[in-house]
Amino acid sequence: MLETTIAGSLPKPFWLATPKTLWAPWAQQGEALAEAKRDATLLILKEQEDAGIDIVTDGEQSRQHFVHGFLERIDGIDFARRVPMGIRKNRYTAEVPTVVAALRRKGPVHRTEAALARAHTRRRLKFTLPGPMTIIDTIADAHYGDRVKMAMRFAELLNEEARELEALGVDVIQFDEPAFNVYMDEVKEWGIEALHRARAGLACKTAVHICYGYGIKANIDWKQSLGSEWRQYEEIFPALAQSRIDQVSLECANSRVPLNLLALLKGKDVLLGVIDVASDKIETPQEVAATIRRAMEFVPVERIQPCTNCGMAPLDRHVAHGKLQALGAGAALLRQELGGR
Ligand code: ZN
Repeated sequence: MLETTIAGSLPKPFWLATPKTLWAPWAQQGEALAEAKRDATLLILKEQEDAGIDIVTDGEQSRQHFVHGFLERIDGIDFARRVPMGIRKNRYTAEVPTVVAALRRKGPVHRTEAALARAHTRRRLKFTLPGPMTIIDTIADAHYGDRVKMAMRFAELLNEEARELEALGVDVIQFDEPAFNVYMDEVKEWGIEALHRARAGLACKTAVHICYGYGIKANIDWKQSLGSEWRQYEEIFPALAQSRIDQVSLECANSRVPLNLLALLKGKDVLLGVIDVASDKIETPQEVAATIRRAMEFVPVERIQPCTNCGMAPLDRHVAHGKLQALGAGAALLRQELGGR
């Protein structure tokens, strides 16, 4: 009961990449980089185990960015042809690469780190991939002429990757879809269908992480424009509840998502964000337990997995470590209170 997990990423050590930076430059090259990624992955597994995290990840130590880490290994993308594009309904503008030919994988994308992580932990292992809608919101198209068609092609590539990860012994595959609370109509029209294609044929658990973003300025400004209650999920949760995705990950610590909306996810596991990643303040175990208790009014306790709100990659390493420990300790506190069920 109340098994813990994390959204995905953790800060990288300084000897792997520049700390506290999104899209941080690598600190090594060539063989030394491969070795540093490997060492960091082992370290991060150990830190999660020690903190009492039940379903661990590789901490995304081997990729620079949650979308581009996947795109780097896809043929048909011209990374030199960068164009400015409004992202997440123009919340911010980014220079994005362009799809110029039919898309296909150059080969396995995450095999090395997934196999390494699998070999070095007995805990259940979760692996994260970007979702199709978020990918096409992060890349320009000069080939398909139809963004939904392009999304479905990415879904097929994600499916190839996910099947290989499952064969390596990964227990949970999570698709990260921060675009899901921006394009609510599209989620219902084709976003969930794209996720179904990405998860086709998988026997392992599948999750979708939706979120209001890291604590960067564009996101903080956007959140302030959303009013006192964030009700975006009201539109998409009923559709997700009907979907073939097993788990939904969302932020509930210091967020304005009304927790009663969680009741709309009937039948799904809720990866309940109880750790705020937009603040350096480390939660106490009591605060973590209190957030879980509030959610228990709307979600059966058997369906709750305490989790972080989002990735912790941009945080200070020591802050992230403290938050991991608070997550593990808060869930343990509540388990004990509930009689260790
Ligand atoms: Zn997130």
